[in-house]
Amino acid sequence: LPKRIGWIGLGLMGLPMATNLLNKMDSETQIFVYDIVQDAIDKIVGADQGRVKACFSSKEVADQSDIIISMVPEGSHVRSVYLTPETGVLASDLQSKILIDCSTIDTSTSLAVRDACAQQHPNAHFYDAPVSGGVIGAEKATLTFMLGCAPTDPNLSLLKELVGMMGSNVFECGGASLGLTAKLCNNYCSALIAIATSEAMNIGMRSGIDPRVLANIFHTSTAQSSILDDWCPVPGLSPEAPASKGYRGGFRVQLMRKDFGLAVDAAKRVDAKLALGAEGLKIYEGASEDPRCKGLDSRVVFRYLGGRED
Ligand code: NAD
Repeated sequence: LPKRIGWIGLGLMGLPMATNLLNKMDSETQIFVYDIVQDAIDKIVGADQGRVKACFSSKEVADQSDIIISMVPEGSHVRSVYLTPETGVLASDLQSKILIDCSTIDTSTSLAVRDACAQQHPNAHFYDAPVSGGVIGAEKATLTFMLGCAPTDPNLSLLKELVGMMGSNVFECGGASLGLTAKLCNNYCSALIAIATSEAMNIGMRSGIDPRVLANIFHTSTAQSSILDDWCPVPGLSPEAPASKGYRGGFRVQLMRKDFGLAVDAAKRVDAKLALGAEGLKIYEGASEDPRCKGLDSRVVFRYLGGRED
């Protein structure tokens, strides 16, 4: 692997991911970092022994590195990281460098950045590589990576080796932007399972069934899911779940609203009929605005839908 890695975006996910890379790559590897928030840069620069170098722009990261990885919130941020004249990644002389965007964004932004890269830097390569597994997966390096590339891509083994240091599952999804599509399909499904689990638990609990008994029945029956087991929306049932900690930590409901909306848009583009898309979006939009739910883990939909928490 090249010894000069660039990292842009050191938030909840980016910081632990970059830290794992730093710890797992050999001691000659240097990481060049940039975030618009100085505090975020200080956290990683302060923690190392001279192998992390702070940069003043995304372009400077790209100037210094052979592989550049970005992890920022939304499509607008990805555009800004790559396309801003003079300070963006594409303002650098990229030659044959590899660019990897791990953010969860809309496929059209990702394809637009990829096209701009191909036009301005024909020898460089841009990939979408979103992740699933949350902050805990980022910290423990157990993320699932969804690579927007074909099984025949010449950079595949390098990509797998690199992201394998931050995750335990890597899938090549077939071509550009299909990593993102896979991620959006997963979150659409997981968001609806959280609603269905919340509603079904609510029926049983209001009817007088002990929620523990009901959850155990789901677990050994056809309503079993990782949402039920590890992210149970009902407080007190899975001790490690955000619901049991006042819905703190986990995956913010605003991020789920974003991903759900992106999945609904993706469905429109390919003419996939969604019976539950509009309803689901309404619920995640409502919960994102509700003062009792805002800023909390997305499984707070149980509260939003009137679930009993006593
Ligand atoms: P975050 O808000 O904690 O971190 C994003 C970081 O990007 C911040 O430090 C911010 O300052 C920085 N940033 C924003 N614009 C920038 C720019 N133009 N240049 C440089 N830095 C910039 O978000 P996060 O939770 O780390 O999520 C990042 C992405 O990962 C999102 O797309 C999210 O949907 C996805 N994701 C998050 C989780 C999760 O559990 N948090 C799980 C899987 C995927």
